[in-house]
This record gives sequence, C-alpha cells and structure tokens, in this order.
Amino acid sequence: MADCIFCKIISKEQSCDIVHESQELMAFKDINPKAPVHILIVPKKHIATVNDLADADKELIGDMVLEAKNIAKDQGIDAGYKLMFNVGRVGGQIIDHMHLHIMGGWQ
Ligand code: AMP
Ligand code: ZN
Repeated sequence: MADCIFCKIISKEQSCDIVHESQELMAFKDINPKAPVHILIVPKKHIATVNDLADADKELIGDMVLEAKNIAKDQGIDAGYKLMFNVGRVGGQIIDHMHLHIMGGWQ
C-alpha cells in the first residue's frame, strides 16, 4: 500500500525503533507511547483492520499473540500488560494497517 505509514516502516522507507522482526511480523516502539512500554506488532502483509481478516489468517493472528507474549517477557513486563486492537475509526483506529498494541510497565 503506497501511502500506508506502517507499510513504509516494514519496507524500511520510514525509520522506527524495531523491537523484533520475523518473516511475517514486525514489532516496533509506538512513537507516542501511552504506557511506559508501548509496542506495536504488525503483519508485514497489509491488512486494514480486524474486520478484513479471512479464515486463512488464523495462523497469522495466533502468531501475533504469541509474539506479543514473547515481547512482553523480553521487555520484562510479563507480570501484567494490555493487548489491544482498535478496529475502525469508531473503535479508535487511526492507522489503517492492523496492529496489536502491547502496553505495560506501570510498576
Ligand atoms: P491506532 O489508534 O490503534 O490506529 O494506533 C496507532 C498508533 O500508531 C498510535 O499509538 C500512534 O502513536 C502510533 N504511530 C503512528 N505513527 C507511528 C510511527 N511512525 N512509528 C511508530 N508508531 C506510530
Ligand atoms: Zn500497510
């Protein structure tokens, strides 16, 4: 997607603070953190929202949650954290490339 900021991050046209990268996923620090630790996990494939997921994306979504768990451990916040998908403008989604928020580190 030519004008998608997260696709630009994935293709490295746009810099960001990468936390982890695999063949299918990228995790990077949120530029405007709403928690002491705030990381976004995105699929490298452009999927606009959770509403656009297909049955075939079942494994991808599972991988995103497992990745979130691993990142929470690496970041030392696995005692407790929030995982959140905002879906659509009404649901607070501003960037139309599906992303999983990991937020934690309050203690
Ligand atoms: P959402 O409201 O769910 O669409 O969340 C989008 C998130 O992306 C917000 O928390 C932003 O702070 C974050 N964000 C926007 N642009 C960037 C960027 N270039 N690098 C990292 N995070 C970003
Ligand atoms: Zn995109």
